[in-house]
Amino acid sequence: MSSILVYISTNGGKVKRSSLEVLSHCREQAGKNGLELAAVVLDPRAEDYIDTLQSYGAKTIYTVSNPIFINHLNAPVSQALEQVIAQSKPRVFACASTEGTKDVLGALAARTGGAALPDVAAFDVTADGVSALRPVMAAKILSQNDARADLILVSVRSGSYDASPSPVVAGVVPVDFVPADISQVLRDVLSSAGDKIDLSEANVVVAAGRGIKDEEGKQLVEELADALGAAIGASRAVVENGLFPATTQIGQTGKVVSPELYFAVGISGAVQHTAGMSNSKVIVAINKDGDAPIFQMASYGLVGDLYKILPLLTAEIRALKSA
Ligand SMILES: Cc1cc2nc3c(=O)[nH]c(=O)nc-3n(C[C@H](O)[C@H](O)[C@H](O)COP(=O)(O)OP(=O)(O)OC[C@H]3O[C@@H](n4cnc5c(N)ncnc54)[C@H](O)[C@@H]3O)c2cc1C
Repeated sequence: MSSILVYISTNGGKVKRSSLEVLSHCREQAGKNGLELAAVVLDPRAEDYIDTLQSYGAKTIYTVSNPIFINHLNAPVSQALEQVIAQSKPRVFACASTEGTKDVLGALAARTGGAALPDVAAFDVTADGVSALRPVMAAKILSQNDARADLILVSVRSGSYDASPSPVVAGVVPVDFVPADISQVLRDVLSSAGDKIDLSEANVVVAAGRGIKDEEGKQLVEELADALGAAIGASRAVVENGLFPATTQIGQTGKVVSPELYFAVGISGAVQHTAGMSNSKVIVAINKDGDAPIFQMASYGLVGDLYKILPLLTAEIRALKSA
């Protein structure tokens, strides 16, 4: 039986939410098209993820356990995925669109002769291929792309689908993998985010824009994020002026986020910013300009001075949480 093979990304001992979203959508697509749903996980302890993956409906799980996967390195990841693709011969290979898979998808397409559809917002498996919607031009428009090939590789933007469990008992296939000719050595991972919440996977994001003028404003953002258990994001304006680190930038040239709840604090809503957060489920905009474009996409809007609103909001959230 032909299959859809989903590459599972992990972080800190957990399957990334974005991978579970892709797995859930692929389960539905596999059901509609009479295909089997398979998953592949690369990790020093790949077998640790079997329970999670079968609870989301993966019927076959390829586990590639190797210490080299402690951090993402393009060469061994591409080699291992190529090996599992050769072994399992899927019709469709799908993965979440992450920093790592952005690098790997093109290499895999070249190695396997498959057709690549990177960074799609939606896709359907059809009788003879895959039909996908891709955001282009800073997500101003969606373009429809149809691919027809023996193997089609798709990466999916986070937040495009819901992660929904559907337990099965999976068959597990341990894969022997020996990395070959790895000339790249990862010495250290430098992260300015320290042990704070991973922005790309966060359920709640508080994002700061140019309305934040100084350290006092930055502290108000940090306090709101702390009260909510949220990750902190930023527009390019406050990254460029040095108030927030580059790792927090959201948008066309920053990260793509898809939280349940997104606070846009002093952000106007330029397309280059919204390209990175438009998949957020609930958007709360705080802006003193009632005509700011961000209000057109906001679920809730607070028009006023953020320096007055944030302390009240944070105090209210803290009071609710401690009640
Ligand atoms: C090629 C390219 C790529 C880009 N990539 C990105 C990207 O990845 N991410 C990104 O964010 N931008 C990106 N930009 C920049 C983008 O075009 C905007 O300039 C930027 O997003 C604006 O940031 P902002 O909303 O914080 O600032 P502004 O547009 O200046 O908006 C500030 C907002 O704060 C409000 N405000 C001010 N004071 C207060 C207050 N006291 N209380 C409440 N509200 C207040 C104002 O009313 C205003 O709406 C890119 C631009 C280009 C050309």
